Amino acid sequence: MPSAEQIAENLALVKGHMAEAATAAGRPPEDVRLVAVSKAHPAGTAEAALTAGHRLFGENRVQEGEAKWPGLKEAFPDARLHLIGPLQRNKARAALELFDVIETVDRPRLAAHLARLMDETGRRPDCLIQVNTGAEPQKAGILPKDADAFIAECRDGIGLPVRGLMCIPPADEEPALHFALLAEIAERNGLAELSMGMSADYQTAIRFGATLVRVGTAVFGPREG
Ligand SMILES: *Cc1c(COP(=O)(O)O)cnc(C)c1O
Repeated sequence: MPSAEQIAENLALVKGHMAEAATAAGRPPEDVRLVAVSKAHPAGTAEAALTAGHRLFGENRVQEGEAKWPGLKEAFPDARLHLIGPLQRNKARAALELFDVIETVDRPRLAAHLARLMDETGRRPDCLIQVNTGAEPQKAGILPKDADAFIAECRDGIGLPVRGLMCIPPADEEPALHFALLAEIAERNGLAELSMGMSADYQTAIRFGATLVRVGTAVFGPREG
């Protein structure tokens, strides 16, 4: 695990690069926020970032989030947590409890289930729709050709609080094409939030309009396993 000093330094470095990329693209730096991805690291790692003043985090698994975050949120009540990994329906209730944003609404049955649970519980975290921009069979997300209809169904049909889109480009392709596609789908659907870009490509994502970048390794170092 990197030291608390190292994590504070990494955060400052990444935020500096983000601001540079935004400025170079003619965008105000404050339009892009850093989701620090603390998955597969112990709670102490996220705590170091919280102590350094960072407040926005991402986890990819509900169970791991439940193990780490209730205590951290109690100590840092203004911390905000995004779910960035696939959501199973049997974890949806727990996810609504814990997460402030669900970035991975990716299929009709999950969307309908979330809408029902929101009505039942009154908890309404913002939602992003995950788009499988590379149409990869093993990857989650709605296909680009189905995105407009799915967005309309989620937002207008069942009343989910849809704020934007999220994507994970194929590992072996130029990410810029995927970022541009996601931005285009968001634009034509009037959606403001674009979650795209990770450690290797967040500056490119900012050039294409990212409002949220999800960065793990560049902040917290390599993950175990
Ligand atoms: C792990 C993960 C990230 C962070 O990846 P890094 O390359 O470590 O920055 C971003 N987004 C998602 C969906 C992830 O699962």
